Amino acid sequence: MTTTMNAAQISKPRGDWELVERVIPEPHAGQVRVKVEACGICHSDVFVKEGLWPGLAYPRVPGHEIAGHIDAVGDNVRAWRQGQRVGVGWHGGHCFVCAQCRRGDFAMCVQRKVTGCDFDGGYAEYTLARAETLAAIPEALPAEEAGPFMCAGVTVYNALRHSGARAGEVAAVLGIGGLGHLGVQYARQLGFATVAISRGNDREPLARQLGAHYYIDSLATDAVTELQKLGGARVILATAPNAQAISALVDGLSASGTLLVPAAPAEPLTINVMSLISGRRSVAGWYSGTARDSQDTLEFSALTGVHPMIETYPLHRVAEAYEHMHSGRVRFRVVLTIEG
Ligand SMILES: [Zn+2]
Ligand SMILES: [Zn+2]
Repeated sequence: MTTTMNAAQISKPRGDWELVERVIPEPHAGQVRVKVEACGICHSDVFVKEGLWPGLAYPRVPGHEIAGHIDAVGDNVRAWRQGQRVGVGWHGGHCFVCAQCRRGDFAMCVQRKVTGCDFDGGYAEYTLARAETLAAIPEALPAEEAGPFMCAGVTVYNALRHSGARAGEVAAVLGIGGLGHLGVQYARQLGFATVAISRGNDREPLARQLGAHYYIDSLATDAVTELQKLGGARVILATAPNAQAISALVDGLSASGTLLVPAAPAEPLTINVMSLISGRRSVAGWYSGTARDSQDTLEFSALTGVHPMIETYPLHRVAEAYEHMHSGRVRFRVVLTIEG
C-alpha cells in the first residue's frame, strides 16, 4: 500500500497554493481516517489563505466541506465502521466538559475546534476526523453534493429551522449566491412563503426555479415596502455580506421577526433600534451546527430534493478553483474532486 498522499496546503499567510506529497496519517484514539472523495471550497477558507485565523499553525491543509468514506478506524470509536460514507464540516470537535458542552450545546463549546483551521482538513486524499464530528451521508447523495452541505448547507438550514418561523409564514432570503441559492430551496421545503431578494432582475428566473414564491428586485422597488405588502417577514436570512443592504431590511420584518445573519459583512450594521423595540424584532447571528445538524441537513436535502449548484475541479487545479470561487462568476459553490 502506498504510504503517501497528495494534498494542497498553504505554508504562510497570503502564501500560494502548494501541491505536496504527505505521509498518510494514522487515526488516533477517538478518530477515523476519511478517504476524501470531494471537498467544497468555502469563503471561510480565506482565513487560512490570508492568515486571518487566530493561532493558526502553518503549513495547513484547508477544507471543511468534506465528503468521503471511512478508511480506517482508531481505538475507542464505537458508532462508526470502515467503508461508511461520511461528511465532516466546519465543526471540528468539542471538549465534552465545558459549561456549554455539559448542557449539550456542543456548537458553543469554549474549546471547539474548526476543521481545516485548527487541524488539517479536506484538500487532500485523506484526512483525520474525530468521531463526534462525523455525519452519515445518505445513499442518494453524491459526494460532490454532500460536501457543500457540510458548511453552506447546514448553516442556512439550521438557521432557518431554528428561526422561530412556522410553516406558512414569510421567510425572505437576501442574496442569491453560495448560501442564498440553498436558503431559498430550504425556505421553500420548510413550508415558508418564500421571498428571494436580489439587486436587479437577472436572478429572478433562477430564484423562482429554486422555489421562491416571490421575487423582490431591490434596485427597482423598495424591498421594505414589498415585504410589508406580504405582512412582513418572520425571518430574513441575510446571505449577501453587504452591511447597508442588510441594515435596510429591518423594517421589512413582521412583529417579532428576526433578521438572521450567517455570514459577516466587512462593515458594521446600522440598525434603527426604535424599529426593533416597536416591533419586538431582533437581529441575530447564526453559527453553523454540529455533526448531527449536518446529518439532518443531508437527510432533509436528500428527502426533499435540495441540491447545491456546483462547479467541480480536480484537486491539482486548486489555485484556479479557489480563484474562481472568489471571482463572483461562480454558480454557486466550487467543489474539489479527489480521484484515486
Ligand atoms: Zn465554510
Ligand atoms: Zn466544551
